[in-house]
Formats: sequence, C-alpha cells, structure tokens
Amino acid sequence: MSAPRQESPDDSTPDSLPAIAADLLAWIHQNDERAPAWFLDRGIVSPEMAAALAAAPAPRAPAEVTVSPVTAEPAATSSAADDATPAAAADPAFAAACAAFVAQTLALIDREGVPAGGTLPSDPLLAAHGGDKAAALAALCAEVLPCTKCALNTTRTHTVFGVGNPDADLVFIGEAPGQDEDLQGEPFVGRSGQLLTKILGAIGYTRDDVYIGNILKCRPPGNRDPLPAEVEQCEPHLRRQLAILRPRAICCLGRVAGQTLLGTDASLGKLRGAVHFYAGIPVMVTYHPAALLRNPGWKRDTWDDVRRLRALVDALAAR
Ligand code: SF4
Repeated sequence: MSAPRQESPDDSTPDSLPAIAADLLAWIHQNDERAPAWFLDRGIVSPEMAAALAAAPAPRAPAEVTVSPVTAEPAATSSAADDATPAAAADPAFAAACAAFVAQTLALIDREGVPAGGTLPSDPLLAAHGGDKAAALAALCAEVLPCTKCALNTTRTHTVFGVGNPDADLVFIGEAPGQDEDLQGEPFVGRSGQLLTKILGAIGYTRDDVYIGNILKCRPPGNRDPLPAEVEQCEPHLRRQLAILRPRAICCLGRVAGQTLLGTDASLGKLRGAVHFYAGIPVMVTYHPAALLRNPGWKRDTWDDVRRLRALVDALAAR
C-alpha cells in the first residue's frame, strides 16, 4: 500500500510569521497590484504581521524560466506571447522569460499540429443538451455520483464530481478528494483549497473563472495514493468531463495528478516547467497547494508556474 500523501491538509505545519512575511513580500514583488490588494484589503494584517513585514528580507530576484526540452527550437516571435499578463508585466525579467516560454510553446503546438480544444471526441451529452456545457456537465454529474465502478464507493461520504465555470479556459486537476472534500462533496476546500483560491487570485482568477476537479472522484482511505485499478475505472469520468469542458489548458496540482493524467513516472521536478499534452490539450504541472502548506519555500516556484500558465492561456485565447 502506498504511503499517505503529504498533501493532507490536516497534518500540515503552519507557516511561521517571518516565513509568511517573506513569502508575502516575494508575492507582492512578483505580482501586480492584485497581490497586495488581495492581502491588505482583507484587513488581515495584524500588528505582529506588520512588524514581521518590516523585518523581512528583501525578495529574491525573479527566477529564470525553464523551457520544456520538447520546445528546443528557437522561439518564433508571437504577438500573442508579447501580451504579457498583468502578473508578469510588473516584473520585466520574468515577463520576458514568460513571453519566450509562451512563444516556444505556441511554436510547438503549431509544429505538431495540435488542434485547438484537443482531440477528445465531443461527449454525446453535449449534443443531447444542444451544446449547453452546464447542462451536459449536470447530466454527467448525475451519472457519476452513484458510481460503484471501484471499491472506493464503499468508503466515500460523497462523490466529488467537480465545480466551476463550464466555459472555463483553464481546468485544475488534483489527484483525489481528501477528508474535507469527501465530507463536503466539493474539491479543494479546507486550508489547501483556500490557498488554491489565493494562487488563482494572484493570476487574476477567481474560483468561478476556472473549473476544478480530481482524477478520482472518491476519497482513497487515509489519503493514500490512487491505485492503478481505481484510476483505470475513474479516468473515463474525467475524460468525459474534459470532452464537455474542452478547456484551452489543464493544470495538474501535484506529482500524482501529473503522473496519473500524463501516464508517466517522471518526477515533479521533470514535469514542472514543461508543457505536456493530454488528448491534445496543453498541460502544465505544479505543486499541490496542500504540499505548499507543508513546504512554504515552494510557493515562489508555484507562483512562477501559474504566471506562465496564465500567460499561455491568454496567448491561446488570443489566437
Ligand atoms: S473513485 Fe471513480 S470509479 Fe471509483 S467509485 Fe468513485 S467515481 Fe466510481
């Protein structure tokens, strides 16, 4: 049996105040006015935090962007890629690296002839509901909720189908529901869900702008990793979701989600910073928010990842 996932929000270590302050300053440094607005406008700056902010060291220099090895050709100039997102625009060095990453990715998509919207055949439910994605997803959800295809149906409290905007450009995918998600029937709630909401805010999204789901729809006992047989049984549900959603891009949250969706055993370090494809849909992989609760030092890399992701989505939308 696999070891319990590290991402469990229940046993995460709270950030120390100086670490939070340093992270916050880095966040503000790396992003536009949304970040301080997100933090300061919520009125959660205590006198202790104000003191920690004053004592925190200056933010580090922006990280270099790593480009996927499969995008090794020189980048072509792209007008879409030149339109850096607001989050990247505040940091010229990062914006330039981000634009290069996007241009190389678009060049790869063009060279490989990857079709917009991916290669998944349209789900019959979409036609049955006249192209209404929300209605088709609701119908699919009604099919999936009582699913008994694997043994996890005997231990779940709720089947966690997914939530969000049916017309979202971007879909976030985790590996499986945790305890909070199982109890509430919604993905990414609790502390990790709150952090995901903040990460989305840093790139100008709310939870209502994107769609959020998991590879497995039912919680594995003890938050263990999904078993191959469970993935085999449940993945068709996800494929049908994606065949209805047809997003411009997918972001896998965590190693297990990335490995499982992409069918690889590559490390998270190898998966991050590169563009992959799932049925023709561009996929990026970053840290699971709950892992960030345990390892706050990974937050800066995550913010870089999601800013590149946002730039890629914007470039794809502009085509
Ligand atoms: S995990 Fe997926 S396949 Fe297994 S019972 Fe739940 S919905 Fe069905």
